Amino acid sequence: MNTCPRCGSTRTTKYGHESRTGMQRHHCKDCGRKYSLGTLFPSKFRITDEKFDELREAFASGATIRKAAARAGAAQDTVVRVFRRLREGAA
Ligand SMILES: [Zn+2]
Repeated sequence: MNTCPRCGSTRTTKYGHESRTGMQRHHCKDCGRKYSLGTLFPSKFRITDEKFDELREAFASGATIRKAAARAGAAQDTVVRVFRRLREGAA
């Protein structure tokens, strides 16, 4: 079971896979959000999809670790790991 990162609903269905990463995608029946859960980013990152989206955007825009951490409200060592992972092929 998984919960929607936006509204917390558990009324979610599987919704195919992301073509680039192969991650399982889900669709929330309540708010309509489509989202991926972290097969690529295992739970050790302790990061929500919302924060990860922020970090991915920050990474794509070339933000520094410090700025990305402040923007997403994440610990800098978490940002370091996520950025490293993005550089290694998820991006
Ligand atoms: Zn939802």
